[in-house]
Amino acid sequence: MKVKGDKSPYDGDLVYWSTRMGRHPEMPQRKAFLLKQQKGSCSWCNLKFREEDILEIDHIQAISLGGKDEWQNLQLLHGHCHDRKTAYDSTKLRELKSTQYWEKLAQELLKLNYLWIDDIPVIIES
Ligand SMILES: [Zn+2]
Repeated sequence: MKVKGDKSPYDGDLVYWSTRMGRHPEMPQRKAFLLKQQKGSCSWCNLKFREEDILEIDHIQAISLGGKDEWQNLQLLHGHCHDRKTAYDSTKLRELKSTQYWEKLAQELLKLNYLWIDDIPVIIES
């Protein structure tokens, strides 16, 4: 087996060995599995994980946006990339809530009797 440089299974390079093997006694199973699946790269910035990096598991589709807690919906990100992803998710959530608000308002409006007067819906008393 050809191994990069002078790496040995015992030198404690968790990221390298988890990526190669998909498991490591000192690496949580979910992280090791994702490392191997992502070939050692972060799904957000596409850079390789390094030994000193913070590795965090993220839900690709956030739970708050209807994502499920299952393998297919998990990805491994740098700590700082996870922060960006979380900010992105909360923007999406705000957009979703705003859309739901307007849809609800539109539905309420449909129940009313109104006329379009100069492009403004004017409610008429029934
Ligand atoms: Zn990253």
